[in-house]
Amino acid sequence: METRVLNGREIQTVLAEELAATISLFPRAPALAIVQVGERPESDAYIRQKVRFGQRVGFEVNHIRLGEQASDADVMKVMAELNGDDRVDGIILQLPLPAHMNTGVIIESIHPLKDVDGLTSASVKRLFSGDTSGFVPATAKGILTLLDRSGIEVAGTHAVIVGRSNLVGKPVALALLSLNATVTLCHSGTADLAKHTRSADILIVAAGKRGLIGREHVSRGQTVIDVGITADPLAEGKRKLLGDVDFDAVKEIVGAITPVPGGVGPLTVASLFENVAAAFERLHEK
Ligand code: NAD
Repeated sequence: METRVLNGREIQTVLAEELAATISLFPRAPALAIVQVGERPESDAYIRQKVRFGQRVGFEVNHIRLGEQASDADVMKVMAELNGDDRVDGIILQLPLPAHMNTGVIIESIHPLKDVDGLTSASVKRLFSGDTSGFVPATAKGILTLLDRSGIEVAGTHAVIVGRSNLVGKPVALALLSLNATVTLCHSGTADLAKHTRSADILIVAAGKRGLIGREHVSRGQTVIDVGITADPLAEGKRKLLGDVDFDAVKEIVGAITPVPGGVGPLTVASLFENVAAAFERLHEK
């Protein structure tokens, strides 16, 4: 059987239309504030994608940039203003922050009803207890949407996740668990990674190590979701992105696979704005 390439851009287009229809019924455009400290080329590129998508669909997106030397108190003052501003529905803190900052404390200063990245302890607790109706972090939510819209069943399958970060690996594991997958979480300390990855029905790779997953790591018919994004060191001048999976090596073996770019990335962006629309609805519920 021919391998299916799961096209995240096509699904994003459908989600954009659905979102535009939903928010056209709102009394005003839902608004997202993106708070960034300092400048990093990667973060700048992600923010551009979010601003472009959000504005195209009809959201208001405000990018607030503080200087590299800003203190925790400076950022928390901005958060307090955004928390209290009725015209702001969702707030995200672009990570990573400069090394001198206390990321955990600043995240906690985001109002739970505006925490559209799902990173505050209130959101984490909800996901931890198996409730995916709150703010599921955008990458995890994007993966669930990708599987759902591609007609790939999750319940009863064995899902293997490579990567255990708070931002990606752990939320993906919890979200799949809540959908009744049997979940294995692999990481940099896992012995015999290939033994685990080969046993997956759904393999999700979020390690940030290009080429980590090759032929020996996959088996016939699997669904492979490649979350990893790293810049290709051999692409001179132009920014070329690579995933964690050696796409060409495994493509003939697996049943379905996401490309990089054009797989999970577009759904992460769309999922963030689904969370913003949900935040608007919850904040303005009568
Ligand atoms: P991270 O560096 O915080 O975590 C990486 C994880 O991979 C760690 O838990 C580590 O244990 C594991 N790991 C590293 N080397 C490994 C190895 N050799 N074998 C097994 N496990 C290993 O990164 P992150 O924030 O979780 O992001 C992971 C990747 O996903 C990055 O490339 C990032 O750019 C990308 N990302 C993509 C999207 C998207 O929308 N496509 C969104 C967020 C992050």
